[in-house]
Amino acid sequence: MTLGRMLVVSGPSGSGKSTICKRLLLDPRVVFSVSATTRKPRPGEVDGRDYHFLSADEFRARIAKGAFIEHAEVFGNLYGTLREPMEAAKARGQVYLLEIDVQGANQLRALGEEGVYIFIAPPDFEELKRRLSGRGTESPEVLQRRLHKAEDELRERHRYDHVVVNDDLERAVGEVRRLAGLDPA
Ligand code: ADP
Ligand code: 5GP
Repeated sequence: MTLGRMLVVSGPSGSGKSTICKRLLLDPRVVFSVSATTRKPRPGEVDGRDYHFLSADEFRARIAKGAFIEHAEVFGNLYGTLREPMEAAKARGQVYLLEIDVQGANQLRALGEEGVYIFIAPPDFEELKRRLSGRGTESPEVLQRRLHKAEDELRERHRYDHVVVNDDLERAVGEVRRLAGLDPA
C-alpha cells in the first residue's frame, strides 16, 4: 500500500474494530476519518473526535449538499463519511483510516476508491457475544440487534482484500499494520 491511500476497516459490532483503530492512530502517518452520525454519544465519546454528532435534520441537509462520499443507515441511525477531509488527507499523502460498515465499503468500492479493505472478524460468535455484552454500552434490545446483524456482516467478509481475525490484540494490530504498509511485510 502506498501512502495517501485509504485503509477501510469493517467488521461486526464487537469484533474490536475501534480498539484496533485506536492503536493504528498512535502512528502519526495515520489520520482517522471522523464520520458523522445521528447516534447519541456513548459515555467518553467526544464530538469532533469520535464522531460529528448531528441531528437527523442536520444529517439530511448535508446529504442534500453532497457532503458525504458514502452514507448508510446502520442499527436505525445514519452514518456517513465526509468527502472534504478525505480528499485533503489523500493530497497530504496520509493513510486515511475509515471505520465503516459493509454497506459503506461497498459504496466506496463501487466508486472505484482505491485502498486496502480489511475485515476484522471475531475468533468465533460466542466470543463476539462476550465482547459486545462485556463492553456494556448497549441496551439488551440494541445488543440483540447488533448480534443479529453480525451474522449478515460475517457473510460479507469475502468481499474484502483481507480478513484479520482479532484473537490476540497485539497480533491483529501487527497484521493490520503490515497490510496497511505501515510496517515492512
Ligand atoms: P467494535 O468497534 O468492533 O464494535 P470494540 O473495539 O468496541 O468493537 O471492542 C468490543 C469489546 O471487545 C471491547 O470491550 C474491547 O475492549 C474488547 N476487545 C477488543 N479486542 C479484543 C481482543 N483481541 N481480545 C479481547 N477483548 C477485546
Ligand atoms: P457504532 O455505533 O458502534 O460506533 O458504529 C456502528 C456501525 O456503523 C459500525 O459498523 C461502524 O463501522 C459503522 N460506521 C461508522 N461510521 C460510518 C460511516 O461513516 N459510514 C458507514 N457506512 N458506516 C459507519
